[in-house]
Amino acid sequence: MKEKIIYFDHAATTPIKKEVLEEMIPYLTEQYGNPSTIYKLGREAKKAIELARERVAKALNADIEEIYFTSGGTESDNWALKGTALANRDKGRHIITTTIEHHAVLNPLKYLEKIGFEVTYVPVEPNGIVDPNKIKEAIREDTILISVMLANNEIGTIQPIKEIAKIAKEREIIIHTDAVQAVGQIPINVKDLGIDLLSLSAHKFYGPKGVGALYIRKGTRIHPFLQGGAQERNKRAGTENVAGIVGLGKAIEIANKNLNEYASKLQKLRDKLIDGVLSKIDYVRLNGDRYQRLPNNANFSFEFVEGESLLLLLDTKGIAASSGSACTSGSLEPSHVLLAIGLEPEVAHGSLRITLGEDNTEEDIDYLLEVLPEIVSKLREMSPLYESVKKEGNKDV
Ligand SMILES: *Cc1c(COP(=O)(O)O)cnc(C)c1O
Repeated sequence: MKEKIIYFDHAATTPIKKEVLEEMIPYLTEQYGNPSTIYKLGREAKKAIELARERVAKALNADIEEIYFTSGGTESDNWALKGTALANRDKGRHIITTTIEHHAVLNPLKYLEKIGFEVTYVPVEPNGIVDPNKIKEAIREDTILISVMLANNEIGTIQPIKEIAKIAKEREIIIHTDAVQAVGQIPINVKDLGIDLLSLSAHKFYGPKGVGALYIRKGTRIHPFLQGGAQERNKRAGTENVAGIVGLGKAIEIANKNLNEYASKLQKLRDKLIDGVLSKIDYVRLNGDRYQRLPNNANFSFEFVEGESLLLLLDTKGIAASSGSACTSGSLEPSHVLLAIGLEPEVAHGSLRITLGEDNTEEDIDYLLEVLPEIVSKLREMSPLYESVKKEGNKDV
């Protein structure tokens, strides 16, 4: 029998929805035509892509011609940053971002620094939110691009993108936002936000892995990312991932339709979890703003605990969650996001990220609130530092 797993890692990925998979299957089997061909089999594949484009445009309040399909969030971010940097380098070579971006933004920017661009990393406030005034102060004569994420993948904080976009537009600077965590969780309206570029990825909202999209506002100066055939109006070459694109379109349509209901359900569970953890466990802090955060995200730091050990013990209880260090890459570096909000490296190491999804129930939260205090105590019993703090009776965090 399959062991029941309580999955609390929806920021890492989500399971594909049944209705999404069902729409995809024909394009993996009998509807296999290449969308660039002119016979019926090809035309039908093309039609399916265009329906998906329409659905994405509708979900974002974009125009249909402003949506381009990619291989995921990482590609969309790379394209947005490198594509605009190269297309606008005659105007200037300065780019502004924040210290809490995803590596899919930070690493392309590091590459751009190597080839002659300059990047300013604006720090965030202790609550994990960037102050738009600090973005404004970082602007120079030669600033060509500002990239700030809509919602953070680790601590869930929602950034004031509308205000930042307004500042960017006053100076005619291109503005990109990585909305990979935000889509399907908070309403997104590209016209209202006033942005030029927005990245999204299907597998973060119950669609398939390996497919995403980039919104490019009409008139934005950007180079194509992949050169080859004429797909995606000459901007992104390569035979389209038809089934993936179909899945993305269906997933975003469903996510948008259920947005309010989904968000309020998860927010209730999240608040129960946060209140429970903060009241049941000592020497713990909630990372990121208490309210200005995604409805599904809770991120805690437990002093005198190793995040990796915490995850392993949770795993033995059938719970899948994430910690604040990049353990998957084999490195034990604490998360750059937790350091950016001012955590000491030792505290950042004892972090736990719980990201909820539609299958989670109140019983799941009760179960976590039952096992987590026991696990934390058990780990602290092995910490000499905790023993000495306990003796001194110092309970300040
Ligand atoms: C997951 C994620 C990405 C990368 O998306 P992929 O589709 O996995 O390449 C980029 N940015 C953020 C904020 C993410 O959460």
